[in-house]
Amino acid sequence: MNILITGGAGFIGSSLALQLIARGHSVTVLDNLSEQIHGADAETGSFLFQRIKDKVQFVKGDVCNEADWKKVLPGQDVVVHLAAETGTGQSMYLIRKYTDVNIGGTSLMLDLLANGNYDVKKVVIASSRAIYGEGRYKAGDGTYVYPGSRSKERLSAGKFDVEYKGDENLQLVATDEESKIHPTSVYGITKQVQEQMVMTVCPSIGVSPVAFRYQNVYGPGQSLKNPYTGILSIFSNLIKHNQSINIFEDGKESRDFVFIDDVVAATVAGIEMKEADGEVFNVGTGVATTVLEVAEALGNGYGNETSLQITGDFRVGDIRHNYADLTKIQQKLGFVPRVSFAEGIARFTAWVNEQEVALIDYTKSLNEMKSKGLMK
Ligand code: NAD
Repeated sequence: MNILITGGAGFIGSSLALQLIARGHSVTVLDNLSEQIHGADAETGSFLFQRIKDKVQFVKGDVCNEADWKKVLPGQDVVVHLAAETGTGQSMYLIRKYTDVNIGGTSLMLDLLANGNYDVKKVVIASSRAIYGEGRYKAGDGTYVYPGSRSKERLSAGKFDVEYKGDENLQLVATDEESKIHPTSVYGITKQVQEQMVMTVCPSIGVSPVAFRYQNVYGPGQSLKNPYTGILSIFSNLIKHNQSINIFEDGKESRDFVFIDDVVAATVAGIEMKEADGEVFNVGTGVATTVLEVAEALGNGYGNETSLQITGDFRVGDIRHNYADLTKIQQKLGFVPRVSFAEGIARFTAWVNEQEVALIDYTKSLNEMKSKGLMK
């Protein structure tokens, strides 16, 4: 098939492009080589761009620019729309930019597909676990509940666990696709809108939509330059430069960390299998790992003495826990994650050890949040 990947020079996109080419597909990439991800000179400095640039039809362009879409859409069978602004914290003060790129870019794509004469039969959209906001919990009476954002007052008092209508004894359970959608960031809102627009518009124009709600993706290739997102990259950067790591809250907050190869395998299944059409899927491991466990695993992986400071700092809008229920993707697409966290960390740290890791200005990104009252 002819497959267009927007954001195909990024972490997930470039890994997916290589796998699709290995499977005999022809890949076109539309990407603006954003400096935040690729550095000032992507030609020489971006590991991600370099590994795909001679293997795909590459078009440098912007998903907010109609002329760029018109260069790449003709002849495509499938569009995998990954290009996006991806920083959760950053989205809370660059609101217009996040909505322009994420919602605006998707609207433009759908407008062209609805009104133009193209061969596209399927659109795969990158959604996110961020659309769920806080995870799903079981209350004392056995019902499922969805706690909202934790208040600044509660977090300032060091009460990090969620509560629901005064009930503090909630049991965390996996989030399935039917769980409540209540994002706590502008990023999450844009991902929700992207997903819903694709799932709503595509069937009405004869195109099959598929949405993947990725959990926290990590692995070789993830940007080591972006101080706004990617906890494994940020911690690795600090460890490599012998700086202490500020562990927010009490370090027991958790996420579902899924290895890039598993994300690529799920996405390939979504592209190639008819059973995926019209469906929304969680992609994760179904395992919650705490931030403290991540920092310790990385410290061990690099063999560095790491100084961990559990500061009680917090970011407004951060969730406490979320991990995926994978029943649906397992049943419909036969997807089972293959890479354990221990193996994934070993493969990630081995890759980082081979890279030149320039010090990123993580403090600047934190100060931006602090100056806007979004972090303590
Ligand atoms: P990434 O930042 O590595 O890649 C995004 C790519 O999009 C980059 O190459 C960037 O240059 C490009 N891009 C950004 N703005 C663009 C624009 N206006 N026009 C054209 N290209 C543009 O991100 P990723 O981790 O590969 O994420 C890919 C997708 O998956 C995103 O939509 C993201 O929201 C989603 N997602 C990622 C994760 C994760 O943990 N990595 C989790 C959930 C969802």
